[in-house]
Parts: sequence; C-alpha cells; structure tokens
Amino acid sequence: MKKRAESKNRTLFVIKNRAINSVPDFVEAFTTRIGGVSSPPYGSLNLGTTTGDRRTNVKRNNKIAAGALGFKRIITANQVHGNRVMEINAKTAAKACDEHADALVTAEKSVMIGVKTADCAGIIIADPVNRAVAAVHAGWRGMANKVAGKTVEFMKKRFKSDPKKLIASISPAIGPCCFIIGRPLYARLKKEADFKNIFSIKKKKIYMDMRKGIRNTLARAGLKLANIHTSGFCTSCDEGLFFSYRRDNKETGRMAAVVGIKQSSAEKTRRKG
Ligand SMILES: [Zn+2]
Repeated sequence: MKKRAESKNRTLFVIKNRAINSVPDFVEAFTTRIGGVSSPPYGSLNLGTTTGDRRTNVKRNNKIAAGALGFKRIITANQVHGNRVMEINAKTAAKACDEHADALVTAEKSVMIGVKTADCAGIIIADPVNRAVAAVHAGWRGMANKVAGKTVEFMKKRFKSDPKKLIASISPAIGPCCFIIGRPLYARLKKEADFKNIFSIKKKKIYMDMRKGIRNTLARAGLKLANIHTSGFCTSCDEGLFFSYRRDNKETGRMAAVVGIKQSSAEKTRRKG
C-alpha cells in the first residue's frame, strides 16, 4: 500500500490505496509528514493553511506533494466539521479555499482535490464508471453528521453514480487504541444503528473506532463492504509518520487525503498535435 514518489531533492512518502489507483488515470494518496520543507512542530510536509506555520512553506509543500503525484496543486476548502459538499471545476477551484466545505467532488481532469487531517479521517470515494472522485473530511462530528453518506448522495444526483460501483478508502486516523471520548457523546451515539458497534470500554474509559463508524455510514449509503478499504494506521501512535492534533496538543501540521483524474496520455498527444 505504500509507495515512494520522487521529487527533485527529497523523497515524499505517501500511502496509496491500490483499488483506486488501479482505475485508469485515477491518482489517490494519503500524505504523511515526510518530504516537505516546514520546521518543527510542522516538520516537514505540513499542508494545513490554518496552522502557525509560514504560508510560503505550506504553499511549497502543497506543490511538492501535488507535483510528485503528477498534478499542479492540491485544491482544499475551509473545513468546519460540517457536511457541505462542494463541486470543484474550473470556475470554483480558485475560491475553494474561502468556502466552508468538508467534502469536495470533481469530474474534471487534471484537478487534484484534497482534505486536510491530523487525527480526523480523510475519505476518498471514486466512481470508476462515471469517472468522478470525492475527498471527504470527517472527525467524530463528520461521522455523526454522515458527511460521507451525504457525499455519496451528491454523487448519485450529479454524476449518476451507482453506490454499488463506488470504491472508498478511509485514511490513517486516530485509532480505537487512542481515541478516548466522554460519556455524553457515547450516550448520544450508541443509540444509532450505525454506531452501536464502534465502542469499547477498558478500565472505565470509552474508546471509539471512528473509522468503523464511517465505514458503517458508507455501507448504509449503499457501498459494498468489499469496496470500502480502511487503513489500520493510528495517527496518534505513529509519531514518525503522522501529525496528531491530540497527541501534539493542537500545535501540529496537517496531512492530506488527495485524489485526482489525470489527463490520459492519448489526450495529451492529441492536444499537442
Ligand atoms: Zn493509537
């Protein structure tokens, strides 16, 4: 699942989902903290625009990651733990960073969309039939708001996507080993069918498996379980690979779950000719 993509002087280290990357011209990746230019505590591939890191560093990191994956830049929005879905095309791309949206979708070629995370999950959804992709940001709020399911609904309407044909990849995120939650949230969520089986209680502490909750909501939206791929990495456990908002006490960088559709080589030749 891991792959190294070389850029000029540094090595970017990303985690890829094989199923999505094997769709012709589809490129999907989850960036780690490795391969960028930022200094601690943002070392080194920080893609978060609302952190204390220098804007020039974040811009450069964005170009490094996008470039290594074959795109110009990663387009992201202003994430607010909500469930708004925004379509990215030539018209909307430039203003995306000012828009409140936790899910981006596109069917346009050469456009790479992404969501920023540090403990939250990034969910990539791909429609290999109608050739559209989505990047979704979900922490526990996004999970509870069913932002992933809402994105599937959007894709059904906009691209005629058949949920049974969709492929989803849930990124590294804070795992059930580290995600301790309070009793009020537990009391609220455990009543819902989609979240019944995501809690474990050890020594009076309540642990939540957020990715399992997101997986349940995607299955509810009609995806086949076999088409929902879930990373096993915990961002809080692995300090060498990941930023973690909880572990690093809020002062940290952001990774990104990104996806885009490349222009096929045949099209490129046609354009040149
Ligand atoms: Zn952990």
